Amino acid sequence: MSAQNMVMGKTISKKTIEDIDVSGKRVLIRVDFNVPQDADGRITDDRRIKGALPTIEYLLSKNCAVILMSHMGRPKGQVHDKYRLDQVRVRLSELLGRDVFKTADCIGDIVWEKANALQSGQILLLENLRFHSEEEENDPEFAKKLAGLADVYVNDAFGTAHRAHASTEGITKYLPSVAGFLMEKEIQFLSGILENPGRPFVAIIGGAKVSDKIKVIDSLLDKVDVLLIGGAMAYTFLKEQGVAVGASLVEGVIEDKKGQKVDCPALARQAIEKAKTNNSRLLLPVDHIQAKPVKEMDAGGHEKLVWKEASLNGVKDIQEGFAGVDIGPETSRIYAEEIQKAKTVIWNGPMGIFEEKPFSKGTLEVARACAATSEQGGITVVGGGDSVAAVESLGYSQKITHISTGGGAALELLEGKTLPGLAVLEDKDA
Ligand code: AMP
Repeated sequence: MSAQNMVMGKTISKKTIEDIDVSGKRVLIRVDFNVPQDADGRITDDRRIKGALPTIEYLLSKNCAVILMSHMGRPKGQVHDKYRLDQVRVRLSELLGRDVFKTADCIGDIVWEKANALQSGQILLLENLRFHSEEEENDPEFAKKLAGLADVYVNDAFGTAHRAHASTEGITKYLPSVAGFLMEKEIQFLSGILENPGRPFVAIIGGAKVSDKIKVIDSLLDKVDVLLIGGAMAYTFLKEQGVAVGASLVEGVIEDKKGQKVDCPALARQAIEKAKTNNSRLLLPVDHIQAKPVKEMDAGGHEKLVWKEASLNGVKDIQEGFAGVDIGPETSRIYAEEIQKAKTVIWNGPMGIFEEKPFSKGTLEVARACAATSEQGGITVVGGGDSVAAVESLGYSQKITHISTGGGAALELLEGKTLPGLAVLEDKDA
């Protein structure tokens, strides 16, 4: 059995669309069509739409009438034209090679009539759920109205499974509720890997803030052989170890979203200690790309941050007034070597300010090493917008074993948390 099949061989404990009789039924699928769009509204990455196709196509093959619902962006209960799903409808229709109907709202009499008149083999896309604040409030009446559109509910929106919203949690009180294929695949990969990883097992965690990812770091330290840390978060760790970090982004004692104090330096110290007692290795950058942050006025009189005097060959010590903006070449080499020795790799978060081309090299080197590991038969899983973008910009997405469609949901799963949108689906043995 190949390494990939071993991971995929794990079955999830929740019923999927294959475990119930869906033939000829009216099925409401919660999908995650929250896709990035450019200033003109063109979809710049349709991976999430493509990810939902197997579920949609399966249900069409069973003569279902398919109703799709999703959120897009953060309209916060207000109607915003830029968050309408019209472009999504067009792209979905192209990908399926079929007409896709769309409503101008997601609830109401007109929506109910359209859903009710939908025939087997037809597809209806509802308007952005988050145009109603009741969606994120998990309002029972709103959930009931959505449920009234169909006979069966399917959750295929892994990217929002960590949120208890009306369309992911509340709705399951009113309809038979099962998982779609994308949800199944994500859970199989992410929890399958944690249960039975091929070793060495390497995790790469990067990005802006320690506070966002310290829980996943803590939990991964119980499982991995090597944890590679990059991005701005590395500087909180390095500062804690007495390394000069200049003007790099570091976190001190902060307040989290719930108003609780989070002592980031102490948490970084604890993670370093935990790695020692667990016999896992936590690696930090040994060199850096540094640059000087300077505030300048743009033509419109707005202040913007520009980076000056960048040392693109890497420095061992960050100078006063300079910030670490990417891992240096020596760190890239060490990290790539660890990744290429691994049988299992999980990666979330960029190694530097990846959006600025000169500072994207560390992230790209990590992407290249992950692709090489896959080619040698290892399992590689990438999640989180920036790391996925890095893999794609190099044309490596086909080589990665699994690209997760959910950054936040994947992190919560790796932390060992229960995802509310998954927990409420019917159990297989029920
Ligand atoms: P996250 O959403 O936590 O994965 O963080 C992604 C963001 O972290 C990106 O916008 C990066 O530009 C930013 N980032 C990564 N490394 C650094 C760094 N060394 N300094 C400042 N920002 C960084």
